[in-house]
Amino acid sequence: SESKPAHFLQNIIREDLAEGRVSRLATRFPPEPNGYLHIGHAKSICLNFGLAEEFGGVCNLRFDDTNPAKEEEEYVDSIKRDVTWLGFRWAGDIKYTSDYFDQLHDWALHLIREGKAYVCDLSPEDARHYRGTLKEPGKNSPYRDRSVDENLELFEKMKNGEFEEGQCSLRAKIDMAAPNINLRDPVIYRIKKMAHHQTGGKWCIYPSYDFAHGQSDAIEGISHSICTLEFEDHRPLYDWFIENLPVPAQPRQYEFARLNLNYTVVSKRKLKQLVDEGLVDGWDDPRMPTLSGQRRRGVTPAAIRNFCEMIGVTRSDSVVDVGMLDYSIRDDLDKNAPRAMCVLEPLKVTLKNYPEGKREVLSAPGHPVRDDLPARELPFTGTVYIEKADFREEANKKYKRLVLGKKVRLRNAYVIQAEDVVKNDAGEIVEVICSVDLDTLGENPADGVKPKGVIHWVSADENLDCEVRLYDRLFDDPAPDAGGKNFLEHVNPDNLQVLSGCKAEIGLAKAEPEKGYQFERQGYFCRDSHYGSADKPVFNRTIGLRDSWAK
Ligand code: ATP
Ligand code: MG
Ligand code: MG
Repeated sequence: SESKPAHFLQNIIREDLAEGRVSRLATRFPPEPNGYLHIGHAKSICLNFGLAEEFGGVCNLRFDDTNPAKEEEEYVDSIKRDVTWLGFRWAGDIKYTSDYFDQLHDWALHLIREGKAYVCDLSPEDARHYRGTLKEPGKNSPYRDRSVDENLELFEKMKNGEFEEGQCSLRAKIDMAAPNINLRDPVIYRIKKMAHHQTGGKWCIYPSYDFAHGQSDAIEGISHSICTLEFEDHRPLYDWFIENLPVPAQPRQYEFARLNLNYTVVSKRKLKQLVDEGLVDGWDDPRMPTLSGQRRRGVTPAAIRNFCEMIGVTRSDSVVDVGMLDYSIRDDLDKNAPRAMCVLEPLKVTLKNYPEGKREVLSAPGHPVRDDLPARELPFTGTVYIEKADFREEANKKYKRLVLGKKVRLRNAYVIQAEDVVKNDAGEIVEVICSVDLDTLGENPADGVKPKGVIHWVSADENLDCEVRLYDRLFDDPAPDAGGKNFLEHVNPDNLQVLSGCKAEIGLAKAEPEKGYQFERQGYFCRDSHYGSADKPVFNRTIGLRDSWAK
């Protein structure tokens, strides 16, 4: 928004453009296709694509697919869908790091020829031992001084599959005594005898993240390569490759603080565990903090974009209260969601003086202020359903709903008065007998006594039978994966309540999946895209009307 002060990346970019260091801003969003995108990724998407929009630049979507063991086409498809859903368009074709495997391999040969890379036969365990610690410098590998020719020959053999996984690797020759461990001869190619979702069986050696990332940025002409703070101490290595290779551009890396949310886990690996262990019903389960789960739950792209705008971009790590996300979701739905009525736990009400056989169609506004949302038609006959919780035989004055002998207004309809109850053998109330004041449509009762309460209802003769799913926080711990905690043990056992036999106003038969409605007095809901049938839909509660979460 215009009133918000610029963040540090906006300032850097403005200066780079003003001073001609960069002629056009180019960013990228580089997910690894090893899972579905989550709310944390939304921050990076909004940042990278948002900056490109703001400064007239471009943003690429690049699949950072250097690890065939964990990557799948299904994830590629879901990521494309989610970025598009958020409202962003990538520049040109989709990019894959694997598109650059030939070029990256050539650059590895270049380093070898320059005496800046060598094939190392240390086992992964020994290599770790030689690398040293923060306090102790590393030791040179005994293979570090192999000749260029020997290295070229061995690397060729690696590429041809003549060695086993882990038998050797290609390492950059930098400095085993560097205080920054990332510079202690990092591995740039490792053997993985595994087919790749893009390149098939072509390769059995794959570049490391560090070797692939900056060079891919250079190939694509990325000017500002924005990543999260964990990569801050990889930056010297990023720069070393750019300086030591004949790359076509000079991208620079910048870091920002990742999004952490309380009561939430933002890690594809951990979210995958929830899926694999059956604790949720797939990646797009409406309880999941994935973009596909949030979409299925009825969260709008605008709500997520506004949330990302609200939290801002800084370089200091913090934990955002999930209440801020809730606020943003509610705010957007309040402004845009059509209103409707749905009775979750129906209680039959018979209007004893409503003319026998009469049926009328009442009209209700689509939204309290949005005239562009069409009015609704509500069939009305002599029987309606109200919420069980909206009737009591006796109550004190604080209870502003229907009480025996008292009046209440049916929302958008008449004032009724409870006269009698019908109970079953167990003594439960199964029906309320009421009188209806037929002069109260849009009018106060003639005696001038306005009923205190207004309750929602649906026609008992014409309604939509449905199932309603009420979700609560997926985790019941504010920091489910902090410290040494096992997040799987902090899944909220009451995170889903399924109500069947709910009765919605008949117009909701046309509700489209994912499109949000406010069920008056109940919250925001949308039709589920997987479950339910045409005549018996399932509605997901996106969020309640106000914050009811006890902290
Ligand atoms: P995960 O641990 O969930 O797999 P990742 O960082 O490994 O996350 P990538 O697929 O590499 O996932 O992420 C793509 C981009 O999204 C990266 O630039 C990364 O920095 C960014 N990103 C991931 N998680 C967050 C987060 N919580 N907040 C902000 N940006 C994030
Ligand atoms: Mg990553
Ligand atoms: Mg990851």
